[in-house]
Amino acid sequence: MDMKIETEELSVCPVCGSMKKEFLFKNTDRLHGISGEFGLTQCRNCKAVYLSPRPSIKSLPLYYPDDYPPHQLNPLRPSGFLQRIKEHLRNTIIYNRYHYKNFQHKPRIEPHILGTFLTYMFFFFAERARYHLPKALFPPYIKDGKALDIGCGAGHFLIILKDLGLKVYGVEPSEKAANIGREKLGVDIKTGTLLDHKFPDNYFHFITMNHVLEHLHNPVEVLSEANRILHPNGMLRIQTPNIDAYGYKRFWKNWFPIDTPRHLIIYSKQSIAGLADKTGLKLKAFSTTHTRSVLYRSLEYEIRDKNNNYKDFGTTGQYTFSQKLFINALDLYERMLILSGKDAGEELQAVLAKK
Ligand SMILES: [Zn+2]
Repeated sequence: MDMKIETEELSVCPVCGSMKKEFLFKNTDRLHGISGEFGLTQCRNCKAVYLSPRPSIKSLPLYYPDDYPPHQLNPLRPSGFLQRIKEHLRNTIIYNRYHYKNFQHKPRIEPHILGTFLTYMFFFFAERARYHLPKALFPPYIKDGKALDIGCGAGHFLIILKDLGLKVYGVEPSEKAANIGREKLGVDIKTGTLLDHKFPDNYFHFITMNHVLEHLHNPVEVLSEANRILHPNGMLRIQTPNIDAYGYKRFWKNWFPIDTPRHLIIYSKQSIAGLADKTGLKLKAFSTTHTRSVLYRSLEYEIRDKNNNYKDFGTTGQYTFSQKLFINALDLYERMLILSGKDAGEELQAVLAKK
C-alpha cells in the first residue's frame, strides 16, 4: 500500500518517563502487511515494551483497514436450539447468582432453586454465564449503574452491559465501527477519543478498556481523564496483552500481541501499577489469563518467519497434529505457571479505583 506515513521517535518511556531503555528488535506490520518499519524498545525501569519510532497519531488510522476484526459485528443472539437452552441457563444464573435486578432477559419463571443449584454445584457454569468474561471484567450489580466502554469498537461489550441493566455509553475513534454499533445495536456510541468528550465528573460506576490501552499514544492523559469521570466507588477495568507472558518468552518477536504498529505499548504488572499511581488511581486487583489462540497465532508467525513469508496471514485451524500437541503442551505449562502464582498469562486484567 502506498501512503505517506508520519513517524515519531520517543526519547523516554511513554508510561513512566524513564530514559533507561534497551532496544529489542525491528518489526513491520505482519497482520495486514502495510508498509513501514518500526522499532521495539523495553523500558528498564517499568519493563513496558514500546514502539519507537511509531506512527504519529495522525498516521495511525492508516493501519486500521476496514476489515480490522474488532471493528466488525458478529451475530449477537444465538440461533440454534442448544444455544437457546444455554442462553436460558445463563439468564437463570445471572439473575439468581449475580443478582442483576435490572437484567434484560429475566427468566420467565424465576427458578431460584434451580439457579442456585446450577451455579453453586457446578461453579464452572459461572464463568460461562459471565459471557466467558474473566471475573475481573464482570461488573457487580449496581443500582442505576452507568457504564462506559472506551474503544468499544462496534459495541459488543456494551450489549452485554446493557443486558445486565446498566446505562451504557461508548467511545470509539473508528467512525465506521461506531456507526455499526449505533445503527444495529441502538447504543450511545460517541465517535472520537475519550479526550474529545467531556463527560461529567465522578459519573461512571464501571469503565472498561478492553484491548485499548496498548493502542494509545498517551496513556497517562487518557487514564487521568478516566479517573476524573470515575465514580468515587467506581471501578476501571483494563484488559491488555501482558509482556511477562510465557508466550512472549517463547515466541519473542513472533508473539502475536506484538502486532506492530497498532500496539504501541505492551504493559507489565509493574508498568500498570506505575501508570495507575501517576494518574491518581490505585491497582486493586491484578491477574493474568492463558489464551491458547494467542499461542497458535504466534506459532503461525514463527512458521511464516522461517519460510520468509510475512503476509497472507489469516488461515488458522490448519495445524498438524504435532503442532496442536505442542501448543497444548505450552498452554498447559502456562496454566501451571499461573497456578503457581506467576503472572505468566498472555493477557492481563487490572482493576483500578480512585486513590
Ligand atoms: Zn517505563
